[in-house]
Amino acid sequence: MAELVLDGVTKYFDDDGDRIVAVDDASIDIEDGEFLVLVGPSGCGKSTTLRMIAGLETVSEGEIRLDGTVINDRAPADRNIAMVFQSYALYPHMSVRQNMSFGLEESTSMGDSEIGQRVEDAADTMDIPELLDRKPSELSGGQQQRVALGRAIVRDPEVFLMDEPLSNLDAKLRSSMRTELQRIQEELGVTTVYVTHDQTEAMTMGDRIAILNDGRLQQVATPLEAYHEPANEFVAGFIGDPSMNFFDATVEDGALVTDQFDYPLSEATLADLDGETDVTLGVRPEDIEIVPEATGDHDFAATVDVVEPLGNENNVYLQFDADDTDTTFTAVVDATTPLSAGESVTARIPEETVHVFDADSGDALH
Ligand code: ATP
Repeated sequence: MAELVLDGVTKYFDDDGDRIVAVDDASIDIEDGEFLVLVGPSGCGKSTTLRMIAGLETVSEGEIRLDGTVINDRAPADRNIAMVFQSYALYPHMSVRQNMSFGLEESTSMGDSEIGQRVEDAADTMDIPELLDRKPSELSGGQQQRVALGRAIVRDPEVFLMDEPLSNLDAKLRSSMRTELQRIQEELGVTTVYVTHDQTEAMTMGDRIAILNDGRLQQVATPLEAYHEPANEFVAGFIGDPSMNFFDATVEDGALVTDQFDYPLSEATLADLDGETDVTLGVRPEDIEIVPEATGDHDFAATVDVVEPLGNENNVYLQFDADDTDTTFTAVVDATTPLSAGESVTARIPEETVHVFDADSGDALH
């Protein structure tokens, strides 16, 4: 059981005399037993953050604390932290049983019978008892990943660190392992930091998600908070699939004026904008409605460009008729609404669903 705190954690790398800031002043309190997902695009600093927690990378500035004790200078082996990698990292010449027991034999004074029992228990938790005497080469990718997780569990660590552990699995297996990993983490109650670049994984697995971009933490929030109340334009665009539509806008006479349409705002929304005049309007594809006819000033004539069927719903790419910039925007529409390319429609953008960001800073205004 452990509370893990990152306090102003910064990592510099030296690249031929140039200083690369891989992680910039990151502060997160990860609660005991919490499942925190670190998510962000390639190169944003996720792995570096995880490696600093594991002790595989030094901390340039700031503190990492485990249950109140600073562990910056503690050797990796003394941190009681287990790490699971994307590459499984199993020893090919050892059986599954040996792979799982090896770490305990090396680093503890535990007796053979206790180690044996722990391996059996972890194998049960991972549902792989029948694989214990096989070699890694005799296992599927999914089974190898179970062994890698079993090897982490067997150590009964205070913290699990996982770096894209499911990314080598096919889509179906990945989704079932997601659910299972969550079940196991909940059952064991071990504080977990899980790195992924996949926002779906982050949204479905994390108690909270920490969104990183360019070494900087953008927001730490529950998945639903990040979806409904993104702190800035980056988070808004990163979370949600398909991505949020953005329109450059200026505030004129109580309306957002864009190249595509004019969007009148209520007094309440205007008040949130705090006098800003250059803004970005954000609209989630799933919030756009296709309606039979225009009845209000948030309804706009548009033409269907492409329909992408997904089964129960369609991603529909549209162009506003008043748009002379050739920009398409995306709507997610129930598959029971038949639409085809070239068709004229009316797209409704309900005001209660829109987001507005400061055009310069990207910070959320509304
Ligand atoms: P990915 O999803 O692609 O694995 P990431 O979010 O995990 O990316 P990091 O691997 O943490 O990103 O890298 C963050 C930044 O630090 C990148 O710009 C990377 O090039 C740089 N970096 C990482 N390790 C080193 C190193 N040993 N020396 C110099 N720069 C490094």
